[in-house]
Amino acid sequence: MIDTDVLVIGSGPTGLFCVHQLGIIGLKCEVVDNLDKIGGQCIELYPDKPIYDIPAIPKCTGEGLTKNLIEQIKPFKTNFHLSDRVDEVKKDKNNWIIRTSKGKEFKSPNIVIAGGIGSFEPRKFFVKECEKFEEKEILYSIKDKTIFKDKVISIFGGGDSALDWAIELSTSSKVKLIHRRDEFKGAKASIHKVKELEKQDKIEILTQYQLNSVEGDSKIETISIKHDDGSIKKIETDYVLGFFGLIMKLGPIGNWGLNLDKKHIPVNTENFETNQKGIFAIGDICMYPGKLKLILSGFHEGALAARGCFKYARLDEKLRFEFSTTSKSIHERLGVKK
Ligand SMILES: Cc1cc2nc3c(=O)[nH]c(=O)nc-3n(C[C@H](O)[C@H](O)[C@H](O)COP(=O)(O)OP(=O)(O)OC[C@H]3O[C@@H](n4cnc5c(N)ncnc54)[C@H](O)[C@@H]3O)c2cc1C
Repeated sequence: MIDTDVLVIGSGPTGLFCVHQLGIIGLKCEVVDNLDKIGGQCIELYPDKPIYDIPAIPKCTGEGLTKNLIEQIKPFKTNFHLSDRVDEVKKDKNNWIIRTSKGKEFKSPNIVIAGGIGSFEPRKFFVKECEKFEEKEILYSIKDKTIFKDKVISIFGGGDSALDWAIELSTSSKVKLIHRRDEFKGAKASIHKVKELEKQDKIEILTQYQLNSVEGDSKIETISIKHDDGSIKKIETDYVLGFFGLIMKLGPIGNWGLNLDKKHIPVNTENFETNQKGIFAIGDICMYPGKLKLILSGFHEGALAARGCFKYARLDEKLRFEFSTTSKSIHERLGVKK
């Protein structure tokens, strides 16, 4: 059980800035995000696109903003629990007990939900038997590419992720790239590269095929793919990778006893607390009159929610208002050298 002052759900821009605000007032926090990387929508949906309305930053990309937010919270050495989803939240006297899909447990008087429009989850194969092999031989993201060395890999998908991984894994594995359409929709250079690799017999490309069935007992032995013309092809394979993009789901947040309004969480604008004491909601997921779904609003909401957490985490203390320019305690927490 991990004991903390605040559990932050979501590492999008709002969650990240809230970590900063918690840090400068001296509260510890842990962050859980369903994605395998930090940054929420900025990193998943528009890493290269320029943003023009972050105060005092005339122009930055989604990735650039995320990097700066991560840099800003470095002094607090925050733990991030990635590729993990908060599934269960239960009250235990003055604390919340939080459980994740990977079985981690946290105990905290405060939860800040910075969950955007819900958790990003991979779009999966429709074939039912796939569930049995998920996280073993059927994968929707790659954490350790060394497992694929000298193996046969069937990669499904027609976008950048499928193409990039096909190119990368072709150096040390036997790769089959399978796509339901005739044309790929990734970057032109990557399409050109996979076609080159096909000519060199390093990648086998199979188009207008979809997964039809998966065969094997304790591990996958073969898969069958179906062509648009109805013909079936059997392939011996060690791993199956599916890259069909992500979907956003409100997910388990809907089961925690929170008031919901059209998949959003109503909050008060004094401290962004929800109808549950010690549970705060900030960023795209919260709702109040006049709410703007912008990053800058999320920053303000995170600053107020952090202060709202203080009263439950430090029952006998009163929080003093301080400026970061002049506060000695903030400088100590940030490790500022005089
Ligand atoms: C194409 C595009 C362009 C945009 N341009 C701008 C712009 O120019 N300016 C601007 O201000 N805004 C812009 N936005 C909006 C901006 O990106 C969002 O307002 C912002 O990302 C919201 O931040 P957030 O931290 O609230 O949520 P998100 O960025 O959505 O992050 C939420 C995170 O929470 C995680 N999560 C959810 N539920 C769980 C759970 N149960 N367990 C674990 N993790 C969970 C998700 O996986 C996700 O990573 C743009 C959005 C898009 C799509």
